[in-house]
Amino acid sequence: MIPHVALGKLLTILSKDHPTLPKDPRTLLKTVTCVKTTELSGGVYHHSGIESGILSQFLVSPELQKLTSVSMQVNVDGLPLFKSSNAQFWPVLGLIEQYVCNVQQNKLPFVIGLYYGKKKPSSLHFLNPFVEEAQRLEAEGVLFERRALPFKISTFICDAPARALVRNVKGHSGYYGCDKCVQKGVHYENRMTFPQTDSAPRLDHAVRDELSDDSHQCGETPLALLSVGLVTQFPLDYMHLVCLGVTRKLLHLWLKGRRLTRFSPSMVKEISRVLLTFTPHVPCEFNRKQRSMEDVERWKATEFRQFLLYTGPVSLKGLVPTQVYNNFMLLSVGITILLNVSLCADLADYAHRILVLFVDHCSKLYGKEHVTYNMHGLVHLSQDAKKYGVLDNISCFPFENFLGCLKKLLRKPAQPLEQVVRRLSERSQHRRTNISKTRSLREHNHGPLLNGLSVKKQYEECYFQDFVVKRSEGDNCVLLENKDIVVIQNVVVDEMDNTLLIYKRFLFPLSQNQVSPQKFRLHFTEPRV
Ligand SMILES: [Zn+2]
Repeated sequence: MIPHVALGKLLTILSKDHPTLPKDPRTLLKTVTCVKTTELSGGVYHHSGIESGILSQFLVSPELQKLTSVSMQVNVDGLPLFKSSNAQFWPVLGLIEQYVCNVQQNKLPFVIGLYYGKKKPSSLHFLNPFVEEAQRLEAEGVLFERRALPFKISTFICDAPARALVRNVKGHSGYYGCDKCVQKGVHYENRMTFPQTDSAPRLDHAVRDELSDDSHQCGETPLALLSVGLVTQFPLDYMHLVCLGVTRKLLHLWLKGRRLTRFSPSMVKEISRVLLTFTPHVPCEFNRKQRSMEDVERWKATEFRQFLLYTGPVSLKGLVPTQVYNNFMLLSVGITILLNVSLCADLADYAHRILVLFVDHCSKLYGKEHVTYNMHGLVHLSQDAKKYGVLDNISCFPFENFLGCLKKLLRKPAQPLEQVVRRLSERSQHRRTNISKTRSLREHNHGPLLNGLSVKKQYEECYFQDFVVKRSEGDNCVLLENKDIVVIQNVVVDEMDNTLLIYKRFLFPLSQNQVSPQKFRLHFTEPRV
């Protein structure tokens, strides 16, 4: 989005030939002029609204207008704004759940309300406007084109500190800090550990009957007024728990942990070398290319995910002690199952067993002081996957991406709440482009082509709704539905305007281990659109 100053200058130039255009950028962008705020919880709060947010999503993505009911995920999290102060936003975000089962890039959260304060909210009162509107919608539905669409909140997706804050329960370092089971933690080596893997589950109604439970509940929460289970509808988020939690912890233990399981500098160097050899082969769907193990302090959540699921099992094999490798593979396989649509439903119980084994084994391998909140949380993950499907359905990834964008809307330190609300009001006017059609980009004329095929144009890249194929390394290797593994050679459009991919196919299945590139054969096919 270009700054208002630049847009103003552009409008002045254009006004000579287009006198009907407004001169003020705010008129063109339909910027809200008055931002209504209320003083709450020691800061100021603006309520954009659940219903208006849902309706603006309907406008932005017209396919949502076919919905007969609306199920919504909610995220609440703190967002520090400046390095020089403690000033922070606490946005309340919504995400229409029907998006969630769609492709990653289509998951578009919206702002329900925005709290701004010089420090963390002093109470949960800032949630009251959200709760009041959600209660009304639960009773009356969302009004769209004279129809009342039934409305419900499916889940609250938050990191551990925010989950504890909004439910007003003990944090992860408390004796009764586990969200999901009733075990009393054990204070060991200056940290709270949760050694039991089969403790009785915490129940929704027990948490709702405030203070009658154990010492888990600290006080009242306005969320108890909603039709939401305060345990079962607050699933654990694997982005924080597994990627930034357990996987990062393992890497720290290998780099700085006790001598028995610490990797030598030469091992670290060799693993990093292997990791970096993968870089050219990483498809563009991954936001980041793999960085060296020595850069682990700067790794983002997606890099830990990539290491756990893809590059770690290969780069560690044969280089690290067998016990360490096998232990890591328990985590890698368990999480792979819970993230895979075709495996999760049938193998969630198996994933549970190997994750429990991983936690027990970690306790012996690295020390029981490491079975803290995140590590222990692994024993509850498959329960959430059984209820909500693959872990990507209930992850913080789309919300975290959105929070990053929200922060970028701030241009100056003055009146941050008003600034962001104004920028958001401008964005709500934008319609999304329908990207469901296949698009080919970057024309060329280098071939290869096939005899007898009449070709109009050749391209380097082809964009499908949820993936991209290219002629270049990293995005040119494709597993077809018939299990053939092929390497894309060209993207062509024929005389009938059909998009075709010309590829070389491996003649032997990969399981045979030895695949000779000389055994390629040219084929072409029309991609599934
Ligand atoms: Zn537990």
